[in-house]
Amino acid sequence: MKLYNSASHKKEEFVPHEPGKVTMYTCGPTVYHFAHIGNLRSYLMEDVLEKFLRYDGYDVKRIMNITDVGHLASDADTGEDKMVKGAKRERKSVMEIAKFYTDAFFADCKKLNIKYPDVVQPATGMIDDYIKVITKLLDTGYAYVAGGNVYFDTSKLEKYYVFNDHDEEDLAVGVREGVEEDTNKRNKNDFVLWFTKSKFEDQALKWDSPWGVGYPGWHIECSCISMKYAGEYLDLHCGGIDNAFPHHTNEIAQSEAYLGHPWCKYWMHVHHLNTNDGKMSKSKGEFLTVSLLEEKGYDPLVYRFFCLQSHYRKSLVFSWENLDNAKVAYDKLVARVAALSDDPAPVDQEAAAKYKAAFIEAVGNDLNTSLGVTALYDVLKADVNDATKRSLIGSFDQVLGLSLLEKAAAQREKAAAPVEGAEEIEALIAQRLEAKKAKDWATADAIRDQLKEMGVEIKDSKEGTTWTRV
Ligand SMILES: [Zn+2]
Repeated sequence: MKLYNSASHKKEEFVPHEPGKVTMYTCGPTVYHFAHIGNLRSYLMEDVLEKFLRYDGYDVKRIMNITDVGHLASDADTGEDKMVKGAKRERKSVMEIAKFYTDAFFADCKKLNIKYPDVVQPATGMIDDYIKVITKLLDTGYAYVAGGNVYFDTSKLEKYYVFNDHDEEDLAVGVREGVEEDTNKRNKNDFVLWFTKSKFEDQALKWDSPWGVGYPGWHIECSCISMKYAGEYLDLHCGGIDNAFPHHTNEIAQSEAYLGHPWCKYWMHVHHLNTNDGKMSKSKGEFLTVSLLEEKGYDPLVYRFFCLQSHYRKSLVFSWENLDNAKVAYDKLVARVAALSDDPAPVDQEAAAKYKAAFIEAVGNDLNTSLGVTALYDVLKADVNDATKRSLIGSFDQVLGLSLLEKAAAQREKAAAPVEGAEEIEALIAQRLEAKKAKDWATADAIRDQLKEMGVEIKDSKEGTTWTRV
C-alpha cells in the first residue's frame, strides 16, 4: 500500500522491514478519564489501517501501551500529574483509576469494532527496562542528571525536529500555554527521562532507581515497550497528530540514541476531530463519549461510519447534525444489504476478484476510507448476483468494520417476527383504503394519524400499503 509518512513528509510505498510481517505500535490512552470521541477517532482509523494490512496479506503484530504513570497535564513535563489528578477527583487510588478507565477504554473500542491489540502493556510494568535504557543514555552522554531528575540532552542530536518544518520558537516547550519553565534543563526541548525530585508529594507510584526513588517520564515508556515487543526495528508507529510533538519526536530521539541506528520507518498521524468552536477536549463544551452517543440513541457504529467518510489526514468537524446525516446513510446502507435475496447461486469469483482489486487499490492509497465506503455502494449497484454482493460486502467489511451483514440479518429477523396487534393494524389499513376509494380523505387521514399514535408508519406504493413499527 501507499501511506503518507509524517517523517518523510510524503506518500511512500509501504515496505516493512521483514517481508510479509508488520510491527505496528500505537500510543495508548492515559487512563485517568474516559476517552472522548476525538481520541477514539485516532484508534478507529488505526484499526482500519491494521485491518487493511491484514486484508492485504500481512501478518500484523499490534502493540499498545497504557499510560498509567508519568504523564503530566502539559506534554512538556509540567503541570499536574494526570493520574494523580484523576485519583483525587474520584477519591480512589491511582491503580483503581487506571483499572477502571482501561476497562472503559476497551469497552468503548469494542462498541466501535476496534480490535483488541495483540499486546497491551501498562507503563508501570516496565520499570526495569526504563532504567536499563536511561542508564545507557547517561553512559553514552545523551542524558544528564540535574536537580535530581534525569534529562535527555536534545543538543546531542543532529536533527531533533523530525515531523515539522515549523519555526522552532513556535514549538518551544516551556513557552507554550504559559507553562512554567524547568530551570534544570540545559536546552529548552530537553525532556525528563526519570523524575526523583517530584513536586507532587502525593505521587502514589514510585520505584527505586540508580538516581533515587522516583518514576519515569512519559516518553520513555513507548520506546521501551515498542523495543521489547517489536525489536530494534519498528515498521509503523501511529498516534493522534498532537502526539507528533513533543511525544513522538522525543520517542525517536531517545530510541535512536539508545540503538545507534534508525528505529521506526513509517509514522502515521490521525488529525483532530473538531467541534464548531475548535478542537475537542475533555474540559471544554459537551464531554463527547461513546456512552453519550448511545444515550442519545446512536449506534456507535454510526460514529465509525461518520469517521470513515473522511480522510484521516484532514481534521473532521463533529456536530449532531453531521452525525444525523451519517445515521441516515448508515441505516439506508444496512437496509440495502438486508434487501439482498438469499440467492443460493454461486459467487461469481471473477467479478468478485475485480471488485476486491478495486477496493484494495482505493483503500491502499493512503487509507482512503471514503473510497472504501464508495466501493460498497458500487457492489450494491453492480450487475452481479446477490450471493456475490453479499460475499463482497462481508469481505470489505473485514476492513471497514461496519458489521453490515450482522446488522442486516438482525433487521431481517426483526421484520420476520410475528408482530403483536398485526391484525388490528391490517384492519385499519383496509378501512383506510375503503375511505380513500370513497374519496373520504378526512377519514383516511384520521386512520393514518391513529396508526401513527400506535407507533406504526405506513407507506403507500403501486403495490399497495406497507407498514412498519417505528
Ligand atoms: Zn507513545
